[in-house]
Amino acid sequence: MSNNSGLDDRLGNVVVLPVFNPPPAAALSTSELVNRLDTWIRPGLTGEQFRALFAQCECGMVVSRRMFPMHECIPKKVEILDLTLDEV
Ligand SMILES: [Zn+2]
Repeated sequence: MSNNSGLDDRLGNVVVLPVFNPPPAAALSTSELVNRLDTWIRPGLTGEQFRALFAQCECGMVVSRRMFPMHECIPKKVEILDLTLDEV
């Protein structure tokens, strides 16, 4: 006999699949996210994970958000005007 709560096997017996709750989705630590970038098993991050992990400073450096306050900015290039040339 068939019903909506299970599957029928070849002999007509109802096979009820056990239902489990999905495992809790724990937030990954910064170290775990960094490791996922270079791992053999399921490498990669989602765009959301990448943006949560890294930030770009106005100086151009890309740093993990955790270490962002610790980074030293790239010095800006100072344009030097050569005023020693004679004007024509
Ligand atoms: Zn900076």
